[in-house]
Amino acid sequence: MSARLLDGRALAREIRSEVTNRAAQFKQRAGRRPVLVSLLVGDDEASLSYARSKARQAEKVGIDFRLERLAAGVDTDAVVAAIGGLCVARAVDALIVEMPLPPGIEVAAVLDAIDPRRDADGVSPDSLGRLAAQLPGPRPATPVAVMAMLQAAGTSLSGVNAVVVGRSKTVGLPAALLLLGQHASVTVVHSRTADPAAHTRRAEVLVVAAGRPGLITPEAVRPGATVIDVGTNWVADDAQTSGGRLVGDVDPAVAEVAGAMSPVPGGVGPVTTAVLLRTAVALAEARFGRDSAHGAG
Ligand code: NAP
Repeated sequence: MSARLLDGRALAREIRSEVTNRAAQFKQRAGRRPVLVSLLVGDDEASLSYARSKARQAEKVGIDFRLERLAAGVDTDAVVAAIGGLCVARAVDALIVEMPLPPGIEVAAVLDAIDPRRDADGVSPDSLGRLAAQLPGPRPATPVAVMAMLQAAGTSLSGVNAVVVGRSKTVGLPAALLLLGQHASVTVVHSRTADPAAHTRRAEVLVVAAGRPGLITPEAVRPGATVIDVGTNWVADDAQTSGGRLVGDVDPAVAEVAGAMSPVPGGVGPVTTAVLLRTAVALAEARFGRDSAHGAG
């Protein structure tokens, strides 16, 4: 068997086209473009390059994108204060804090500082709580991208065995909650799970977000399963290659066993960025609605 490859780039184009229309409609009504701000703490090259890529895509869909930077040496209080300022600024509709944060910064405190009404990546504890309670709110971009890929693949979720590898609060845990919301029976596998393959082999839908290149081998996959690989790992090819190569958490040989599979690169990554831009526009729309209702216009 050779798995059907799920084309994240094509799905991302579809989502960006919807975002372009909504951003144009917003501009007509509000007289300005939606504004997305990215806060980058430190000078992590991969984060900077990802932020620049978001800036290019935001520009293409009609969103104003601004990069705010803090020096690597700042403490948690300074990051929290900067987020507080951005969340009340009239010029900001949506905010994303680039991850990873430099060592020493308390991630939980930083996420807690994000006002859910500005939370473009749906990562604040308030946003996560609203997801757990199945209440409306901004959802985390990567897990939503996973769900969009499953939907585009035509995978039915109601009653199926779904296994999520990874339980981070920004990817694995919300992915499990979204799958539960679609009535899948969900198992979460993490670093302390005894015999992870015993679980993954039962999965009709397998979502892998561990950050471990090649973690999932063909023997760990149920024949015909739909496998979504969230992992993005830079690995060195050989001494001659600088910068390395992007690989997922799933061994490419899994394509011989799975029924459908998302590739890395070209899978969840591009969809995540498109979903983030869609959430930014949705937050701008909601804010304009609130302001109009209060006569602030
Ligand atoms: P994270 O915070 O490091 O969490 C990794 C999770 O995987 C943890 O829950 C950990 O378990 C679990 N884990 C680690 N090794 C494992 C193993 N051998 N077996 C089973 N579980 C294991 O990472 P993250 O932020 O969730 O990101 C996960 C991956 O997705 C990374 O490669 C990241 O770069 C990628 N990512 C991609 C996108 C995208 O747009 N494509 C977006 C975000 C993240 P414990 O909780 O027990 O430690």
